[in-house]
Amino acid sequence: MHLTLPDWLDDDLRHLAEQEGRSHHAILLYGQGGIGKRALGSALARSLLCESVDPERRHQGGCGECPACHWFDQGNHPDFRKVVPEAVAAAEGQELSDDPSQADESAGAETSARGKRTPSREIRVDQVRALQSFVSVATHRSRFRTILVYPLETLNDVAANALLKMLEEPPARTVFILVADHLGRIPATIVSRCRKTFIATPPAAVATAWLVEQQVVDAAAMLAMAGGAPLAALAFSRDDDGVVAHGRLLAFLARPDSEAALATAEALGRAPPGPSVRWLQQWLADCIAQRLTGRIRYHPTQSAAIAGLAGGARLSSMMDLGERVNDVRRSVDHPLNPRLLLESLLSAYADAMSVSTQAPFDEHRPTAVR
Ligand SMILES: [Zn+2]
Repeated sequence: MHLTLPDWLDDDLRHLAEQEGRSHHAILLYGQGGIGKRALGSALARSLLCESVDPERRHQGGCGECPACHWFDQGNHPDFRKVVPEAVAAAEGQELSDDPSQADESAGAETSARGKRTPSREIRVDQVRALQSFVSVATHRSRFRTILVYPLETLNDVAANALLKMLEEPPARTVFILVADHLGRIPATIVSRCRKTFIATPPAAVATAWLVEQQVVDAAAMLAMAGGAPLAALAFSRDDDGVVAHGRLLAFLARPDSEAALATAEALGRAPPGPSVRWLQQWLADCIAQRLTGRIRYHPTQSAAIAGLAGGARLSSMMDLGERVNDVRRSVDHPLNPRLLLESLLSAYADAMSVSTQAPFDEHRPTAVR
């Protein structure tokens, strides 16, 4: 597998690849989720393994013609390991269904052969320990050994300790490429052992043009909804069920009432509630931003509806609900009952936004004459 690296990452790749592993044995790429950091990490690994004599070609993510590049693209370079949670490996296997060799690369054949249990969302300690034997023998080829790990936030505590030990006593000619969205969720001991490299979110015009190239309809709206992260926008645009669910939720949010809250929760509660809660969170963030600053971020095409709703509701009610949704989002992975959770949140939203039942003035709005 070799993904074409989105062009906004070209300079980052060049800068990292030119160091040829000299600057540090552990490179931590961090920045907003959904902007291409994993593809960048993969391209960097490929460039460190590439055996072209031409440094220019190596630094562009590998020449694509040498044996090393071919092995890497087929997912079986002997000096490369990718460590990701099983759930991520499974999702990538689906996305890359034309290239099944990648599907179970990192989860390990042993675990994937165990049958139908739910794929782990964590990087487990045995995945990290398996690296010990990988790094304890000489490299197969003349270049580097590279280990790509993501998302770093999913290391469980024991696995994080095992990785820390390796970072503290770095094996020879080995480069760790670690990828994270949230530095705050990674043990400081690990962060301190890495060379941190911030990867910036591309400008909206660049990201929108790229989405248009990928044949995404409504590219600008999709990008806004994804908080400016183009790969997240692309993934969402290809998720037909998600697009339908999102449309259904927005229709309710734009014209809320308590009966519609129940019907919407019923419809959306058949799927895991994570996306719905995130969309509600973004919508509330826009309502609150509209009220406080007059500017919104996620729903530019719904600005009239948001202005109307936000102007009529109490700011304190919106903020209270916003906080509650933030709390729910932190623990949304294991809700007892998605429908009940959404019923409760959407009913609270309908109450908070209902103009007719609110007092005609707002405690946070300056009052003119008393
Ligand atoms: Zn090559």
